[in-house]
Amino acid sequence: MTHGFDTAAVHAGSEADPATGARQVPIYQTTAYAFRDAEHAARLFNLQEVGYIYSRLTNPTVAALQSRIAALEGGAGAVCCSSGHAAQIMALFPLMGPGKNIIASTRLYGGTVTQFSQTIRRFGWSAKFVDLDDLEAMKAAIDEDTRAIFCESISNPGGYVTDIPAVAGIADEAGVPLIVDNTLATPYLCKPIEMGATLVVHSLTKYMTGNGTVTGGVVVDSGRFDWSASDKFPSLSQPEPAYHGLKFHETFGGMAFTFHGIAIGLRDLGMTMNPQGAHYTLMGIETLGLRMPRHVENAQKVAEWLEKDPRVASVTYAGLASSPWNATARRLYPKGAGALFTFEIKGGYEAAVKLVDALDLFSHVANLGDARSLVIHSASTTHRQLTEAQQRAAGAGPEVVRLSIGIEDADDLIADLDQALAKATA
Ligand SMILES: *Cc1c(COP(=O)(O)O)cnc(C)c1O
Repeated sequence: MTHGFDTAAVHAGSEADPATGARQVPIYQTTAYAFRDAEHAARLFNLQEVGYIYSRLTNPTVAALQSRIAALEGGAGAVCCSSGHAAQIMALFPLMGPGKNIIASTRLYGGTVTQFSQTIRRFGWSAKFVDLDDLEAMKAAIDEDTRAIFCESISNPGGYVTDIPAVAGIADEAGVPLIVDNTLATPYLCKPIEMGATLVVHSLTKYMTGNGTVTGGVVVDSGRFDWSASDKFPSLSQPEPAYHGLKFHETFGGMAFTFHGIAIGLRDLGMTMNPQGAHYTLMGIETLGLRMPRHVENAQKVAEWLEKDPRVASVTYAGLASSPWNATARRLYPKGAGALFTFEIKGGYEAAVKLVDALDLFSHVANLGDARSLVIHSASTTHRQLTEAQQRAAGAGPEVVRLSIGIEDADDLIADLDQALAKATA
């Protein structure tokens, strides 16, 4: 029997503990697991039997979280890792090789832009940045070395939304997987796999844990991609020398990507999630279906209030009728366009910095997706090293302020913005 979203958020992956009956998922704070005998150990190491070996690869608390997230996203399997950024490398690793490229959306989290434009080049990988609203440009950018298309469902920092079915159609035609970063939407607002995505990645640091306590990530696999249909994905379709010539796709079918992620990815890259982090995230996910509607409702109220205010030049929220993304948001994200957006304050850099300092309830931090409302002025912080032209291109011009709307009373958030705008523009 398949359960509804809220039931799965509380129950998926967490039977009562078989050893003790503990009802909440225990924190299995252990590095290693006793083998029954030498034969058992050998079978585990050969991947002939699935079981716990060493917590760099698998841990029961982390496994419970993996099952829960796979259930919520409608995936075949999931691999948790140490951060959202780790999840991105873990998702790309089995697909890529020297000389291979990805097509990446121009509207991405700033840290991802840096990872894709600078750091992955050390591996011989590269990214071509394309406006994914321009489907023809995306098609034209795909070449014989392209191994994936990467986008965010709802994008950071503007809160713009992606037409995932349209992008997935082009990925399918090209025979490459679509990877969707679903951090800002969570599976409550968007299920990329149902819309045709192959892989979903998350920063669990944000709404999934939901309270600013954990750094974590996950890669979810739909289990649907045919890795053997072409010679493009030899790590999954061809004999793996680091596993006695095992062919992952032939052996594990729809679980090939997940098994590869554990047996090669976590084993050799070591970007493992710790069991305490997994425990906090499991508890956070229990209330996802209660928190997200409040985040969205508050974001809509605050964005509408800001848009009408004469001290504000513009608001990017896709939930606003004035947004160029509003029609797509209504069609594909009917439960809401998330709770992260930016606005431009009149008065430029000076006014923006004063506003951030004058806010009382909003915390000035480099995070998002917390129960608390958060604010950051990108031009003086995360985008400080860029020229003004580069800042503007990234949607982080001197007058731009980013808000992550929490689950407090919307009236209190609006009152706080009102008093801070007064001080900033006096
Ligand atoms: C924060 C974030 C990341 C990176 O996640 P970390 O957990 O900080 O490594 C990736 N994508 C998006 C959309 C994010 O907001």
